[in-house]
Amino acid sequence: MKKVVKFGGSSLADAKQFQKVKDIITSDELRAYVVPSAPGKRSDADIKITDLLYECYELAAAGKNFYEPFLAVKDRYNEIIQGLGLSLSLKDAFDQIEDKLLHSPERDYTASRGEYLNGLVMANYLGYDFIDAADVIFFDEHGFFDAAKTYPTLASALEAHEHAVVPGFYGTSFDGKIKTFSRGGSDITGSIVAAACRAVVYENWTDVSGLLMADPHIVSSPAVIKSITYRELRELAYMGASVIHEDAIFPVKKAGIPINIRNTNKPDDPGTWIVENTARRSKYTITGIAGRKNFCSIIIAKDLMHSQPDFYRKVVQCFEEKEIPLEHILSGIDTMTVIVHEKKFIEHEQEVLSRIATLAAPESLEVESGISLIAVVGRSMKSQAGTASKIFSALADARINVRMIDQGASELNIIVGVLNEDFERAIRSVYHIFVDVEK
Ligand code: ASP
Repeated sequence: MKKVVKFGGSSLADAKQFQKVKDIITSDELRAYVVPSAPGKRSDADIKITDLLYECYELAAAGKNFYEPFLAVKDRYNEIIQGLGLSLSLKDAFDQIEDKLLHSPERDYTASRGEYLNGLVMANYLGYDFIDAADVIFFDEHGFFDAAKTYPTLASALEAHEHAVVPGFYGTSFDGKIKTFSRGGSDITGSIVAAACRAVVYENWTDVSGLLMADPHIVSSPAVIKSITYRELRELAYMGASVIHEDAIFPVKKAGIPINIRNTNKPDDPGTWIVENTARRSKYTITGIAGRKNFCSIIIAKDLMHSQPDFYRKVVQCFEEKEIPLEHILSGIDTMTVIVHEKKFIEHEQEVLSRIATLAAPESLEVESGISLIAVVGRSMKSQAGTASKIFSALADARINVRMIDQGASELNIIVGVLNEDFERAIRSVYHIFVDVEK
């Protein structure tokens, strides 16, 4: 039985944070494999190592002097090493990076060095073996993660080490060069390592005590979600809630491994459990609320629409031609409403509208912008009568006009559309009726 622990940049921002991390790792025998990010910000004004490295690359690629950010990178690591009292020297590694910046700068290689160097420091500090992600994580010729090549190699590398540090964020592409995941991608590495060693849990340590029921910028001190299913998380994440990189879900989900989001600064907090299925009921009817602003609705009316089976297809085709993703489609007797993201739609607005007019010949076409969508998500909603009525009475009490309603067939969520100016108030009133009132 093994656990994989991934620590984010803020958990490793300085020597003090490293000490907390070591205490966490050594307090549980099962915490065998460690995936570190690069050092993050120590304060709001600080710059993340990864951002400094991107700056080094941009300067080097433009043939400019990159020493200011490069020295800042070196100083940060040397400060951490000194603060921890290690005798480690990163001189050779720094020289190699400098040499590459001078002679053949590569963007992904440069960015990946934040995790690489931090992995070396972490392995030295813990007395664990270092496994370079470049030797065990691979991408295919399309730039996607290559599971078939990675898993056997990674699994056997891990088997050879009882404890090890595997730096996050990067691997090797099919042409042998270093390639990174997208930003925040150390979460993905952690998930892959957990799947490769069939871990009992993938612990993702960060600077919050889990996923919150609502955005703390909108609701003050929202409750922490104790457990959430992967599907619920997907719904909330799509609407903007974020605690872990979205692509980090798939490797562990496939392997049936739960994720536990934990707070390095409050290690006793239980955090959030992200699971495939659970019999645990959440304390509240809903699991969480999230939303996004700036959608548009296009209302298309046509008499006897239902007697024309190809009507929907024609309308959908007009959006498809311009590669505008459809967020929702709602139907009435003689109307059809399409909800799309405002920014993506406006770019091709007139082309799409005139194409609908030609292809589908509707009676009328109306466009409304400035719409926000709010997803109220919860696996317990389907077994509770009165959930929808609670949402709508909360909105009615706050005098908020609902412009659209969509309940997914899975009954996992109810999506409501309100005007942008009512967005924050709508979230607060729904949160209040389910959390403060149900308490
Ligand atoms: N250091 C990388 C970034 O800042 C990857 C990560 O932290 O997960 O995006």
